Amino acid sequence: MEAVLAACRAALVRPGPVIALTGAGVSAESGIPTFRGKEGYWTIGARDYHPQELATQAAFRAMPWEVWAWYLYRRSVCRRAQPNAGHHALARLALELPDRFALVTQNVDGLHRRAGSPDAQTFPIHGDISLMRCAADCVLDRWLIPDAVPDLAKGDAVAAPVQALLVCPRCGGMARPHVLWFDESYDEPRFHLDTVRRLARGAALVVIAGTSAQTTLPWHVVQLAASAGATLVDVNLEDNPFGDLAAGSGGVIRGPAADALTAIAAALI
Ligand code: NAD
Repeated sequence: MEAVLAACRAALVRPGPVIALTGAGVSAESGIPTFRGKEGYWTIGARDYHPQELATQAAFRAMPWEVWAWYLYRRSVCRRAQPNAGHHALARLALELPDRFALVTQNVDGLHRRAGSPDAQTFPIHGDISLMRCAADCVLDRWLIPDAVPDLAKGDAVAAPVQALLVCPRCGGMARPHVLWFDESYDEPRFHLDTVRRLARGAALVVIAGTSAQTTLPWHVVQLAASAGATLVDVNLEDNPFGDLAAGSGGVIRGPAADALTAIAAALI
């Protein structure tokens, strides 16, 4: 741990953004299941679906209300969860390094925002589970899922009166969760594609935490930053492909994200 903290401090001396790249593991200690655990699976009829099958436009087209039920259940879990020490540490870092720090998160749970990470320094590249938008993309806007949409327990169906609330306020067509699905592409207006690539190109330090490295933009961010000479650090319970890159750079911390991010933030402030 001490060698990694020293590498983080040394990276601060160079100019350029300090980026934290977070994944589901950062919220695991808040009680939100990651996609890899068995809690990530979802049963519809007689079949167990893997998140990578359900979090797709194809699944939404085939069975929209089953997919909405999965998202409304996950929204309920996120609403009940509280930010942990790792979220708070990154929020402190944003406030202490207002001109340098950027948080790029794959998490859709809103816990970084609720911990106080400022919107101007936070880039949720996979969307936000509390928001919906037009399923037909009639407009770029997204809206809070109405408060009248209740929390759903695992296995609950979306009742007809709730379905009637999940509509685009502009065209009246069906709304969809504002999340990036596995068969969709990143863009700037909704998912900050150009912004995070620009930040990565000049980065001094990238602290990667709680991600299994299976999505493409995070890879791109880490590779752009590495090519520009950034120091890479990986925090995870397990070895993963980002850890292999970080091992030859700033180093790895194999332990819970909350403790590790608290220590890293303290070293940088
Ligand atoms: P993932 O589920 O694929 O991987 C989670 C990673 O976190 C694993 O490498 C695991 O070893 C690590 N981990 C678990 N607990 C940890 C802890 N306490 N401390 C440190 N590391 C820990 O998640 P991903 O890489 O973020 O990618 C999956 C996709 O799932 C993303 O697109 C994301 O949007 C979505 N997702 C989001 C949430 C959320 O918002 N909380 C939850 C599940 C999935």
